[in-house]
Amino acid sequence: MHKEDLKALINEMHKELIGTIDSHENPTKEQVVAFLQDATNVISSLKNTSLNDLERSKLMFTNAYREIAKKTLVSYTTTSNAFEELAQIHEETLISATDLHLNLPQIAKKFENLQKQMFSEVEKANAIITDLTIQINELERNSNLDSLTKVFNRRALTTYLERLCDKGNIAYELHLLVLDIDDFKVINDTFGHIAGDKVLIFIANILRSTLRDGDKVFRFGGEEFIIILNRITPTVCLEVSNRILNLIRSNQLIYKGDTLNVTMSIGATQYSNGDTPEDIISRADKALYKSKNSGKDQMNSEAHPNGN
Ligand code: GH3
Ligand code: MG
Ligand code: MG
Repeated sequence: MHKEDLKALINEMHKELIGTIDSHENPTKEQVVAFLQDATNVISSLKNTSLNDLERSKLMFTNAYREIAKKTLVSYTTTSNAFEELAQIHEETLISATDLHLNLPQIAKKFENLQKQMFSEVEKANAIITDLTIQINELERNSNLDSLTKVFNRRALTTYLERLCDKGNIAYELHLLVLDIDDFKVINDTFGHIAGDKVLIFIANILRSTLRDGDKVFRFGGEEFIIILNRITPTVCLEVSNRILNLIRSNQLIYKGDTLNVTMSIGATQYSNGDTPEDIISRADKALYKSKNSGKDQMNSEAHPNGN
């Protein structure tokens, strides 16, 4: 045991004694004696090894304290860091939440703009579709029209007759007329091809103006036209044919100072149930042939072989 250790121990005991006396309001002599007796007992029981043990214990205590302090500090730092992290996460959450909250009107506005843009795009697309539909209809209509005379063309006639014949039975009378310009070659040869074209337009206009709604004029080819007359009797068909012939005969076309006299021949037939497009056209052609062979500028008709 070292002198310094003993001094330190006595100093500690002295401090303890003073502290004990101070802690009591009315300390007694017996209390101080008791304390000093205890202290004497401790000192008398001390051995050299015990002091060493004490030193070691003190050191251990100090180390332990340091360790605990260190651990606590580390723990505190960790906790602090955790808190910081938590705070940061919280802050971030708050910020993002705040962002969301703040941006909501912006997002709504953006969405609204997007919606407006989309609506406008849809409107534009609709306008384009409508425009295209009109154009398609126009093209479709034009493709059914003869480019020179603007009456229906042969393609339209084929479609019309196919639909008609597909129906089979029709509950009303229908007549088909084939009209052929008489001596058209002479007109072309005499006045030129352009004059011939003018005659074709002139005839087409007369035919168109003569007909009622539901009746149709087609340019069959060259200087031949076909008219379909709906819901008329053979007598009325004859009347209409004669009216057409008269109009053409009496309407003179002036071309470059020349008067062009034009006449037409007509072959007519009535649609009979079961007719094919070829059947009805060839019967009308047969009737036309009769008109041509009988002096032209007239109408003849051809009945169905069964008598219709
Ligand atoms: P027919 O009285 O027997 O019908 O005699 P046609 O001269 O009218 O008949 P033909 O078949 O001998 O001649 C028809 C002429 O029609 C011949 C052709 O050059 C002319 N032609 C056909 N298509 C057109 C056209 O689009 N424009 C013009 N200018 N002439 C055409
Ligand atoms: Mg002809
Ligand atoms: Mg002819």
